[in-house]
Amino acid sequence: MDTKQTTKLRVLMQPWLAHGHISPYLELAKKLANRNFTIYFCSTPVNLTSIQKRITQHQSLSIKLVQLHLPSSPDLPPHHHTTNALPPHLMPALKSAFENSVPEFSTIVKNLNPDIVIYDYNQPWVPTIAAELHIPAVEFLTPGAAMCSLSLHRYNKPGVEFPFPEIQLKGFFQTQFRRVVDETFREGNPMQSPLTAMEKSFKIILLNTCRELEGKYVDYLSILIGKKIVPVGPLVQEVVNKTEEREVMDWLDKKNDSSTVFVSFGSEFFLSKEEIQEVAHGLEISGVNFVWVVRFPVGETTRVAEALPKGFLDRVGERGLIVEGWAPQAQILAHSSTGGFVSHCGWNSVLESLNFGVPIIAMPMQLDQPPNARLVEDLGVAMEVQREEDGRLSRHEIAKVIRKVVVEESGEGMRVKAKEFSNNVRLRAEEAIDELVEELVQLCKEKNLVKIKSGQLY
Ligand code: UDP
Repeated sequence: MDTKQTTKLRVLMQPWLAHGHISPYLELAKKLANRNFTIYFCSTPVNLTSIQKRITQHQSLSIKLVQLHLPSSPDLPPHHHTTNALPPHLMPALKSAFENSVPEFSTIVKNLNPDIVIYDYNQPWVPTIAAELHIPAVEFLTPGAAMCSLSLHRYNKPGVEFPFPEIQLKGFFQTQFRRVVDETFREGNPMQSPLTAMEKSFKIILLNTCRELEGKYVDYLSILIGKKIVPVGPLVQEVVNKTEEREVMDWLDKKNDSSTVFVSFGSEFFLSKEEIQEVAHGLEISGVNFVWVVRFPVGETTRVAEALPKGFLDRVGERGLIVEGWAPQAQILAHSSTGGFVSHCGWNSVLESLNFGVPIIAMPMQLDQPPNARLVEDLGVAMEVQREEDGRLSRHEIAKVIRKVVVEESGEGMRVKAKEFSNNVRLRAEEAIDELVEELVQLCKEKNLVKIKSGQLY
C-alpha cells in the first residue's frame, strides 16, 4: 500500500509549552502534513503566533492551529504561556495553569474528533480523555532514548546495574540526576505522572531519535516500557534564510571555515554570574572565534555588559559576537564557519549539532543534559568539560576543551565523526517518517475494528 498517496488521517497534536518540546512536535507535524495528513496543532495563542511563522504557505493548508486558553494566573507574567525565559521558580505556576486547561482541551478533542492524538509526557490526562472517545492516543517523547532508559531503569530496577556503563554518571551529576529521577517518578498525583503517560500510550511510543545514535538504548527502553518504540528522528528545525537574522550570518560569513564556536545553553537555563565569568574567560583564553547567546529570565534587569568581565568585549574585539536573548541556532550550526558547539546538551541541541556535523564541547547543566553529554562523548563526537569536585566550572578547562574539539590535531577524529553522523542521520530522517506513517495507519485500522467512524481512513 502506498501510504504517501492514500492516508488522510486527522491528527491532533498537543506539545508541552516549552520551546524544546514544541519545536520537534512542529517538525513532526510538517513531515506528516507533507505525507497528506491533516494536523490540528494545539497550543496557547502566544506559542501559536511564533509557530505560524515557522509554517510555510503550502503547509498552512494542512496544519491547522488550535488555540488553547490557559486560565490566567497571578503568578505568571501576563500572556506568558511558555517556558521560554520563564524564571525557574514560576514553572509550577505554568504547570498548574496548564492542568487547569484540561476541560477546554477535552472540548477540543470532542469537537475535532481526530483519528489520533499525539501527546507529551507532561500531559498524562490526554490519553484518558481520548480513550473515552475511543480515539487512539500516542505519546511522543521528546528526550533521547539513553536518558529515558537510564531514568526508567532507576525506577524499575532499583539496585540493578544499568547495562550500559558508558553513560553512567559520576559524582556531582550522579547525585543531581538521581534526585531529579526520584522526584519525577515518586508516587503521587497520576495526573502529573510521566509513567501514566507512558503506560496509557496506545501500543507504540514515538521518540525523537534514530538507531544510528541510540539503537541499543531504544531496544532497552522498549523492554523497560513493554511497548514498541518508534524512532522518528532526528526532527530538527529547518534552516531558513530570514532577513532579520542577517547580522549574525553576515558576521559568520567573514570568518574562516570551521573557525568559530557557537555558545548557547538552550531556552530554559540561565547561567549564574560566576558561570558567565568562567565561560567568558574560557572563550577569551581559547583564542577561538565565538558567537555567544547571553540571556536572562523575563523580568530580570541585568544588562549583558554588566554581567561580562570588565573590558572583555574590547579585548576579544572582532573575534567574538554576543547575541542577547535568542539566536537562530539551526542556521548558525549549519553555517560553514561554525566548527564547534559549546552546548548544555539539551536533546534538540544535540540533534541539531549532529544533523549539521558540528562536534560538541559538552557543558551539561541539569536534567537530561548530563546523560546526553555522556552519550555524545561515547559516540566520539564530543568532549565534556570536566567540573571541579563541587560542580564549579573552570575557565582553563573550558578553553582546553574548546581548543581540543575545534583546533588541535588530536580532535580531528571528533570533527570527522560529527560529519559522518550528519550524513547518516539525515538519510535516516525521511525513512523514519515513512515507517511512522505505516505505524499510524495500522493503529487506526486496528482501532477501527472496535469503532467504525465514517471517513476515518482513506
Ligand atoms: N534555540 C534557538 N535559539 C536560542 C536558544 C535555543 O533557536 O538562542 C533553540 C534550539 O535550536 C533548540 C531549542 O531552542 O531547538 C532548545 O532545545 P534544547 O532541547 O536543546 O534545550 P532546552 O531549551 O530544552 O533546555
